[in-house]
Amino acid sequence: MRLILLAAPGAGKGTQAEILSEHYGIPTISTGAILRKAIKDGTELGRTAEKYINEGKLIPDDLMLKVMDERFKNDDCKNGFILDGFPRTLAQAEALSASPIEIDKVLSIEVDDQTIIERLSGRLECRSCGTTYHTEHRPPKTPGVCDKCGGELGARDDDKPETVKQRLKTYHEQTEPLIEYYREKGLLRVAKGQSEIEETSKVVFEALEA
Ligand code: ADP
Ligand code: ZN
Repeated sequence: MRLILLAAPGAGKGTQAEILSEHYGIPTISTGAILRKAIKDGTELGRTAEKYINEGKLIPDDLMLKVMDERFKNDDCKNGFILDGFPRTLAQAEALSASPIEIDKVLSIEVDDQTIIERLSGRLECRSCGTTYHTEHRPPKTPGVCDKCGGELGARDDDKPETVKQRLKTYHEQTEPLIEYYREKGLLRVAKGQSEIEETSKVVFEALEA
């Protein structure tokens, strides 16, 4: 199974990706996680990515394509994968279509902008392993501590209200057109995001297995 997840920031894409990844036994490739790790490690990629991310903008296509080219070579991609955060522009989608990688399905999780703004304001992320939590919808067992690895939880820099607005704008302008692109290719499945993680996950499986 080679699956693309499309959704606005904060729609719960990363959380659903984790659930799907466990269910199908295939890895999630999260571009956001790759880029945040590069920033933390202080690599050249990280230094370039940081300024775009903090402005709520996308990093340039040619750079993103290089990163993904490398990532797809990894052995763990052999039996399929879930793409969380790639492609995010038509140019990226076209480059992927032109590559030997065959995508099976594209899942769009739909959540309205107001809900997104509310959700991102309570989002927390593990500084070590990247798992996301939410103060209300997905609280960690111990406040401030990651259930999985014991790492420290904190808000993401790009979850500030001004940046969230810009990220939504970027999404509507640059990523949303991919929904039509994949609908035309016959690959699109749509799931309406629900207020609870488990409910969304149910709708997601229904959409994928229909
Ligand atoms: P979210 O989906 O919550 O906005 P991500 O963690 O997926 O956040 O991505 C964080 C940031 O990383 C994006 O706002 C963008 O700047 C950058 N980014 C991630 N994926 C891509 C991509 N495919 N192309 C360009 N920039 C990307
Ligand atoms: Zn963790």
